[in-house]
Parts: sequence; C-alpha cells; structure tokens
Amino acid sequence: MLTASPVLRTLEKLHTPPRTFLDFDSPFHLLVATILSAQCTDKRVNLVTPALFKKYPGPADVVAVPEEELKKDIFTCGHYNNKAKYIRATCNILLEKFGGEVPQTMEELLTLPGVGRKTATVVLYAAFKQQEGIAVDTHVWRVSKRLGLTTANSQDKIELDLMRQTPREKWGLFHTLLIMHGRTTCTARNRQCGKCVFKKTCPSSLVMGRGDLAQ
Ligand code: SF4
Repeated sequence: MLTASPVLRTLEKLHTPPRTFLDFDSPFHLLVATILSAQCTDKRVNLVTPALFKKYPGPADVVAVPEEELKKDIFTCGHYNNKAKYIRATCNILLEKFGGEVPQTMEELLTLPGVGRKTATVVLYAAFKQQEGIAVDTHVWRVSKRLGLTTANSQDKIELDLMRQTPREKWGLFHTLLIMHGRTTCTARNRQCGKCVFKKTCPSSLVMGRGDLAQ
C-alpha cells in the first residue's frame, strides 16, 4: 500500500514546483489572488491580476473605489459579487486592525472575510515561508484519494491524514507536488496511468485494471 512519504519522495524527483501557481509581488497581492482563485483557475486569475495589482497596490486603494468598480475589475474570475465584498471587507480589516499589512498567523488570517484554512495555508507558505498545513484543493483531493493516501471525504480530514504521514517542513511542497501530478498526469478526466510513476502500485491504476478510489 502506498503512503504519503514515498509518494512525496517520488514526486520530488519529478517536479520542482513554485511555492504557489498564483503570480504575486507582495503578501497583500497573494491574499487577493488567493481569494479570487476560489472556484476559478489559477491561469484565469493570473490573467486578471497584473492590471488589478497595478490599480490597487494596497488595501487603501481598494477601499477608495466603489465596490461596483472592483466587481467590474474582477468580473472574469467568477463569483465577483461575493469576491468583491470579501476583498473590500478584508481590506478594511487590514487597515483597521493590522496596519495595512497581511497578518502572519493562521488565527489572524482566519478572521478575514473570504479567507478559509486553505487560503490561509497557501498565503502563509508562499508569502511567509510558514508550514501550517497542506491546502486541499480539487487536485490534492482527487490525487490523494486515488493514490489511497486517505479515505476521508472532507478537506479537514484529508489534510490531517496527509499531515500525519509527512514531515512538517514538506507540507507546502507536498501540496504543490500533488497539484502538479494532478495537472500533468492524474487529471480529473482521461488520467494518464500508463505514463504514471505509480502505475504499478496505485490502487486506482487503470494499467492494473483497478477502479477509481476518488469520489
Ligand atoms: S496510476 Fe493513474 S490513478 Fe494512480 S496516480 Fe497515476 S494517474 Fe493517478
């Protein structure tokens, strides 16, 4: 049976992923990009953010414009009504409570509207080099389930299972490696089991005639 540590070691030999797939030039901009990435592709967010970051260098620039204007600026990322509301409310809190800076603890980040554990984990790892968890997005969910690293069916429980099996200093890296594997080989549809390094050992390997463990 596969466990997370050998999977991590194998993937480390194959890929050198960035700390995050979202483009950013400051913790504030990463926070905004991560909020925008909910139910949207990183590719789409990265198309929108260059102009957005130029127009809004910091939280004060966001609250200086009407919410309707912000909605238009982020329209193509989807769910723009909620996202604009969250970004604006987050900017107000950053200005009022954190001196305009992005806080550097999980507890403080979770007080921000639109910021859940997944977003906070990505920001802490990519912007501040902190290992606070393994953010479970759609790729991490699918790949870890197919590989049999977890049988859980919630983000929190999957994260705990993965954290228990891997050293803390590798948590952020493991998140990005699982995403790379999910994008390049273990894709949602038409997965490439024949080309996969886990084709002989994976409990969902089509090469071995097995069914998909992911749900
Ligand atoms: S063998 Fe197939 S199902 Fe298993 S990790 Fe590789 S691509 Fe995914």
